[in-house]
Amino acid sequence: MSVAYFNGKFVGSNDPVVPIDERGHQFGDGVYEVIRIYNNKPFMLEEHLDRLYMSAEAIALAFDQSRESFKEIIFQLIERSGLDNLDVYLQITRGLAPRNHLFPDAPVSISMTAKPFRSIPAEFRERGAKAILHPDERWMNCYIKSLNLLPNLLAKQEAHKAGCLEAILHRDGKLTEGTSSNVFVIKDSRIRTTPLSRHILAGITRMAVQRIAQAAAIPFEERHVAIEELYEADEVFITSTTSEVMPIVQVGEKLIGDGQPGQLTRLLQRHFQALTTAVTADA
Ligand code: PMP
Repeated sequence: MSVAYFNGKFVGSNDPVVPIDERGHQFGDGVYEVIRIYNNKPFMLEEHLDRLYMSAEAIALAFDQSRESFKEIIFQLIERSGLDNLDVYLQITRGLAPRNHLFPDAPVSISMTAKPFRSIPAEFRERGAKAILHPDERWMNCYIKSLNLLPNLLAKQEAHKAGCLEAILHRDGKLTEGTSSNVFVIKDSRIRTTPLSRHILAGITRMAVQRIAQAAAIPFEERHVAIEELYEADEVFITSTTSEVMPIVQVGEKLIGDGQPGQLTRLLQRHFQALTTAVTADA
């Protein structure tokens, strides 16, 4: 069952609990995380929390709740959902205060939801998905997982209108990331992905894939990828918490490789699945 939490109370996921004067609602003045729970156990929880605390600090959000007590709420929410496989959404905002651009002297708001896995059709995972290319029109601090997602939404909607799953964003002729994913190209059995900088989010799934590649001795290069390299790649894939490792078999009108998910992408998908199963297995 879907359940939610808002400022100290567990509530129904559709309950109207957020007052109008709430800064997340009015300004998108906050940060968030999406964490996947497999077999009742959060996957890479510490890494997600590290990023959440980092994002909060980056926007000067006074989120000083101890990690242990914050985790306790997450675990309670998971338990209340009665679900084994679910997505937990966490949001911290600058709180409840009459609308004014200046920071209020108010406690932060914490909201969470727990919902069944958002399912991406299995055929995408198996046969690959399509993407469009789109200019990256976002701000200069995309390493912060901010609630402000308007440019991401606009680009994703363009992708959807074109019958595609994702928009791959580019800045100065080079790829940055997807609207809600990191992007990788494979050429001559080498994985390449945009280096971490303020222009992209340090994806947790990206980190998992990097560890997998290193363990399997697959060359993994963090370096800028030009648009032409995307089109000429042998394989392309994207990663995110909810889409895991997703093959991209067409960008715009151009087929990638032979238009089928490539062998290395398949291998990474299998390794990723094995990792999520292994680290969330019953003790
Ligand atoms: N980049 C952006 C812009 C995203 O929104 C996401 C999804 N949170 C990602 C990358 C992938 O991050 P993760 O693997 O941590 O879900």
